[in-house]
Amino acid sequence: MFMKIIRAEHLGMCFGVKDAVALALKTARREPLTILGDLVHNETVVAELRARGIRVAQQPADVNTPTVMVTAHGASERAMNETRGRGLSVVEATCPLVHVAHRAVARLVREGFHPVIIGKRDHVEVRGLTGDFAEFDVVLCDEDVAKLAECPHFGVVAQTTQPIDKVRRIVGLIRSRFPKSEVRFVDTVCQPTKQRQNAAIELAQKCDAVVVIGGAHSNNTHELVKTCSRHCVRVHHVQTAEDLQANWFADAETVGITAGTSTPDMIIDAIEQRLNQICADVLSSTY
Ligand code: SF4
Repeated sequence: MFMKIIRAEHLGMCFGVKDAVALALKTARREPLTILGDLVHNETVVAELRARGIRVAQQPADVNTPTVMVTAHGASERAMNETRGRGLSVVEATCPLVHVAHRAVARLVREGFHPVIIGKRDHVEVRGLTGDFAEFDVVLCDEDVAKLAECPHFGVVAQTTQPIDKVRRIVGLIRSRFPKSEVRFVDTVCQPTKQRQNAAIELAQKCDAVVVIGGAHSNNTHELVKTCSRHCVRVHHVQTAEDLQANWFADAETVGITAGTSTPDMIIDAIEQRLNQICADVLSSTY
């Protein structure tokens, strides 16, 4: 049986991650560089950066180069000042759309709103969004909303890579739990995330199986897996072409490919090639 392979209309590495990788490579050509945390949640890209001599440290205390890079996920002013206070020079690769979220939450706080971030509490971007405030809440599910204490003004923003439908549902929950409070929501989900989520839904609806490509720790990849699983019963999360198993696609007529915002084009191409090979193997065993 012939297996058709289609790509989502929007998939893979976003401009924010591409620019951050380019800035890391450019800086590393000039001087020794350490990246604070994972520049991208993709092992292949991180391994390539290491191969170019770029170091990775999880804490400023572990940095042994004079220059350190903050990732596309951003950092709080407090964290960056602490890093500078250690005598390190900071290169910022923060995505402009993460800066938009930082400015949105700072403005809400200035105007007297209690900040609520819809996102993953321990995610580096959320730590950056909350790190300059003494009081804030982070919510991701109904139980988290149930634990919020009442206050007159809630200012709500989202981690940039959360699905907008989920974010709007949580904002609705906060509004219905606190009908007397003012709940101001600023939509900070980034456009590349929205495009990839919408394209993933369209893709999953017309496929018998979907392959989602992305790092094991990539939040937006996990969200793509969840979104596709609502519209297609056979969804497989892989990191490289070696993870693909031919038996996943038995009897599948249409197989879709989508990828998280940290996934480079070469991995997507390799996976499409491997799927074509699987398809060719099935055809030759049939005839
Ligand atoms: S996922 Fe969105 S916010 Fe994050 S780096 Fe990409 S474009 Fe920027």
